[in-house]
Amino acid sequence: GRDLTLDELLATQDQVVLCTGAHGDRTLDIPGVGLRGSHSATEFVASYNGHPDHADDRFDLAVERAAVIGVGNVALDVARILMSDPRDLETTDIAEPALNALRGGRIRECYVLGRRGPAQAAFTPAEVRELGLIRGLQVLVNPEEIDHAAGVDRMTRMKLESLSRFAVPPDPKVDRRIKFRFGVSPLELHGDATGRVVGLTLAHNEGVAQAMTRTERLDVGLVIRAVGYRGVPVAGAPFDECRGTIPSENGRVLDRPAGDPVPRLYVAGWIKRGPTGVLGTNKPDASETVRSMSEDREASSGTGAFALDLVPLLERRGIRFVSWEDWRILDALELERGRRAGRVRSKFLRREEFLRALGTG
Ligand code: NAP
Repeated sequence: GRDLTLDELLATQDQVVLCTGAHGDRTLDIPGVGLRGSHSATEFVASYNGHPDHADDRFDLAVERAAVIGVGNVALDVARILMSDPRDLETTDIAEPALNALRGGRIRECYVLGRRGPAQAAFTPAEVRELGLIRGLQVLVNPEEIDHAAGVDRMTRMKLESLSRFAVPPDPKVDRRIKFRFGVSPLELHGDATGRVVGLTLAHNEGVAQAMTRTERLDVGLVIRAVGYRGVPVAGAPFDECRGTIPSENGRVLDRPAGDPVPRLYVAGWIKRGPTGVLGTNKPDASETVRSMSEDREASSGTGAFALDLVPLLERRGIRFVSWEDWRILDALELERGRRAGRVRSKFLRREEFLRALGTG
């Protein structure tokens, strides 16, 4: 969309698959959301994962209490990273600036806030169970909130069972806690005179779709919104604004929802089906796309002659790019840097840094 148009790319290849994910975030329009100390999970996760667009993001974690809005697996990931002992993350591939922010942090309490009940929580049983394995941390849930509703499906029962292990009294010997709260919606963030978050007002949602009757204020110095991702359009490709996805059928891109296939253009992953599903969900999703690609390839009478040649085109424009071979070199370099530092991997965080490592910067 910037260095190369999608039409140019299609003129250099037999088939093109868009797997751009969903790197935008669903918005939460409440007063105070722009205060310092209020972040989207998209930013926070990209930053600790070392995404080069987020190499300069900084998070002040030197606060006592934090809140994560949403109860999906991303909310659990955020709470897990915030509340882990930084020493337990040192050997992972977490980005160094995020690790340093955690080392300088002192969060003792992290609320994880669901607007509906635990049975409707978006997280999966294994992920919630794993929170209980974090060293030096207690996870708490109010026993009254875990309604063991009869007739629920197996997945919901497993979720409630996993949660019920946390329905225990606080242990005074443990000084770090994750507290689940259900049936509460964020209404407003409050700031101090310097524009920094100091509190969050919640509405208690009494019963399904009933008027909010009761409010409560939490004193928190950090709020992370983990309310879901949203797909971002790819320049030159069709986009379904309602769903935040590229319209498709069996992985073939359509010119509009329920429209006609765009020849030789395919999608896979979150940009195809929306930001849902665990890692394993991507396997059948990708297989479906590849099946369509194979079928179309067999049915086509392509000559294999292209209007444009990709690499000379990029070189003519002076665009620095990373080839598959380069990527493999970077992978090996990151693993080697990690090995020397006693970590699984040490990522390059900036584009200039990895282009320099490749000798092309
Ligand atoms: P998600 O599963 O859609 O969860 C979003 C959460 O935000 C839900 O609890 C939702 O509540 C809540 N929410 C949305 N709008 C809200 C609002 N206005 N106010 C309060 N709460 C609001 O999204 P996600 O956590 O970003 O995860 C995306 C996908 O990646 C999921 O399929 C997830 O399982 C997957 N993932 C998997 C792993 C793993 O396998 N370990 C790790 C990370 C992510 P409602 O349900 O009430 O709308």
